[in-house]
Amino acid sequence: MPDLEPSSQADATPRLGADTLAADVGANLAAVRDRIAAAARAAGREPASVTLVAISKTHGVERARAALDAGHRVFGENRVQEAQRKWPPLRAAVPDLELRLNGPLQTNKAADAVALFDVIETVDRPKLAAALAREMDRQGRRPACLIQVNTGEEPQKAGVTPDAADAFVAHCRDGLGLPIVGLMCIPPADEEPSPHFALLREIGRRTGLSVLSMGMSGDYEVAVALGATHVRVGTAIFGARPPLVH
Ligand SMILES: *Cc1c(COP(=O)(O)O)cnc(C)c1O
Repeated sequence: MPDLEPSSQADATPRLGADTLAADVGANLAAVRDRIAAAARAAGREPASVTLVAISKTHGVERARAALDAGHRVFGENRVQEAQRKWPPLRAAVPDLELRLNGPLQTNKAADAVALFDVIETVDRPKLAAALAREMDRQGRRPACLIQVNTGEEPQKAGVTPDAADAFVAHCRDGLGLPIVGLMCIPPADEEPSPHFALLREIGRRTGLSVLSMGMSGDYEVAVALGATHVRVGTAIFGARPPLVH
């Protein structure tokens, strides 16, 4: 029988027995959850106010299954096509899992994204917002949406600029009627992340959006201290990613 997930053969990490893998992923999940809880308590927040999103991009289906076996239910993927290959069989087995799109979304994939994801974190331009609104009407499915903010105003990075965020939120939420629930950011890799997290929180306060998706393996505790409701953690749970092949 062929491997369910061909790309799993390209895993950078050595092949492990299923039991070892499940134990590793389970232990990593528990450790990250403990650190989130400690960071939340230190900031005077309820640990339950922070959701851990396990970012499984580029990893084979067996790592996602190990996390599911450990009881984890909230996952993020970066690419629509990869998620379409990986997740429908897992969801058939575990109907209560939540799947979030964290990567850039092309307008011509809006229909697929609406059909597959429970949350779309990367709404960042009017053309995409319009396509999502159209698809939600057509499919009668309304995944919650986050607006991605390019807090570092990096030219190569997706996201609306901070000074355009309020108007874009209003356009999506009030103009198009999209189910906008929050904001997401990816700070510049070479900068101290806290000012970016604080800026996202401030835009959330101004726009009345309570969901803040911010923080990754290297900085999720900082993000929790600054109000993250969702942290997106990949490497610290699943190990190093195999190199991306385009
Ligand atoms: C890959 C990715 C993550 C996870 O990054 P790690 O450093 O592996 O935790 C989080 N958010 C987004 C948008 C990503 O693309």
